[in-house]
Amino acid sequence: MADMINLKINNIPVSVPAGSTILDAARIAHVEIPTLCYLKDVACVGSCRMCLVEATGARGLVAACVYPVSEGMEVQTNTEKCRKSRKTSLELMLSKHKKECLACDRAGNCELQRLSVEYNCDPNRFEQDTERHPLDLSAPYVVRDRDKCINCNRCVAACKKQSVGAIGPIGRGYAVHIGSAFEMSLMESVCVGCGQCIVACPVGALKERTTVDEVWAAIADPQKKVVFFTAPSVRATLGEAFDLPVGTNVEGKMVAAIRRLGNVEVFNMDITADLTIMEEATELINRIQTGGVMPMFTSCCPAWVKFVEQKHPEMIPHLSTCKSPQEMFGGLLKTYYCEKNGIDPKDLYVVSVIPCTAKKYECKRPEMNGEVDAAITTRELARMIKTAGICFKDLPDEAFDDPFATCSGGGTIFGATGGVMEAALRVAARMLDGNFELVDFTKVRGTSPIKEATYNVAGKTIRVAVASGLANAETVIKNIQSGKKHYDFVEIMACPGGCVNGGGQPTLPDSIRNSLDLKDLRAKALYKSDKKNKLRRSSESPVIETLYNEYFGAPGGERSHKVLHTHYKADPRV
Ligand code: SF4
Ligand code: SF4
Ligand code: SF4
Repeated sequence: MADMINLKINNIPVSVPAGSTILDAARIAHVEIPTLCYLKDVACVGSCRMCLVEATGARGLVAACVYPVSEGMEVQTNTEKCRKSRKTSLELMLSKHKKECLACDRAGNCELQRLSVEYNCDPNRFEQDTERHPLDLSAPYVVRDRDKCINCNRCVAACKKQSVGAIGPIGRGYAVHIGSAFEMSLMESVCVGCGQCIVACPVGALKERTTVDEVWAAIADPQKKVVFFTAPSVRATLGEAFDLPVGTNVEGKMVAAIRRLGNVEVFNMDITADLTIMEEATELINRIQTGGVMPMFTSCCPAWVKFVEQKHPEMIPHLSTCKSPQEMFGGLLKTYYCEKNGIDPKDLYVVSVIPCTAKKYECKRPEMNGEVDAAITTRELARMIKTAGICFKDLPDEAFDDPFATCSGGGTIFGATGGVMEAALRVAARMLDGNFELVDFTKVRGTSPIKEATYNVAGKTIRVAVASGLANAETVIKNIQSGKKHYDFVEIMACPGGCVNGGGQPTLPDSIRNSLDLKDLRAKALYKSDKKNKLRRSSESPVIETLYNEYFGAPGGERSHKVLHTHYKADPRV
């Protein structure tokens, strides 16, 4: 057991493991210390000066997020000196900040705004820096507003943690600001679009590039038939935007809310997660049986695909050729669905609701033929529901529209790290040795950064690995390339914890992010839904059976390849 340190925070005795910071100890003592640059598991640099406290044995005020506890220490967090110092830090930030609070995306959910109110700040106390810079609108998935940035560096830490490093501090002293090397735009940089910087940002300096106005225009257009489909993880997070507890599955209310946005149909993207599994499991078996390039990597995360294309083009042959479930749905709707319903694909407006900013970029890739017209994040959907004046919490539960309503639990767990792997193993076990029993592959579940397992299927040993977060993906690649590890199948999701923790998910204040394990709670909602589903395996969905019988023929067949598969390009920026 770790050595314990005894100290007092605001006269409250507390005992914490050696090596803890004052901030860790304060949390255990249920004392709130304000923070701006600190974010659990992401950033801890002690630069914003919000967490300054008085501690015995220290000279002057110290930053609680980095200052270690010591035996017998007495800490005061709420003295006049602490409050004055925090207020001054906030007022200095406000002197540079573009104060567009009335119409800012983060109004009401901005950590700077909340603290400024709590500390009764005068936003005009210091001379105002009114120099303004153009927005970075280069990428189809994010907008960067340098003039709202408070230089907290949380985005820089999030991007570094992704092993991408597209952004960092530029310049010195007062002129320091966050940007890409040589002042490149984000689209020219090595950014992969994961949006982890957006969910880390405490203010409105980073936000998704919204397409909500285009979606409203399509709904209002009598020439258009508008269909929405929602990704598996959105039902596990949308409720947070309506103050429901983290981990509440709001599938029924989400469907009801979208239906009330206008004359639209609402489909379940779990069906193309199921379709992905049929295609991917077939591809894996083919590679195993024909000596193809191994290990095979999943390809359903567009940020991961862009990471491989840009940073590891030599690994492109390892990527499955399957499109992501979003793009499979776009293809399915603009071919099969249009043909079956006599709709001209030009008149069908397809809206994908996703946890993800990278998918906004993905649907603009030329290989995807514009089959998804708009990709909106969970946050954008929440905004549309609020704009429409829909009382979300009071809605009844409604079911997805046919013909894509009946999906398997395997499709649902796609939203959590390990879910794609588990769903694929369920189908591979069934395809290879007719095993109807094996559905729970629990070793690939959970939020550990890298998970490994070995399974025996049809007398063959299948070695698998699952990683989430691109730094962990980098480790997996290095281990494969050095010969240290041998796998057959590898699942990678760019966002730590998978899509439940995607860059388009609701932005929660640090007080919640620092105290709850969001990715774990949200993933549990999906696994619960999987367990309740009578259909656990993608191949068991009657919709999948119909699609292959009526349209695609067999998984991996010619038509599947045309509609459901894609190809990759070394560095798609050039
Ligand atoms: S979107 Fe991802 S890769 Fe791009 S700057 Fe943000 S964290 Fe880095
Ligand atoms: S963009 Fe946001 S997260 Fe990044 S440094 Fe500025 S305020 Fe902090
Ligand atoms: S893990 Fe999911 S949310 Fe994150 S970038 Fe990949 S597909 Fe998007």
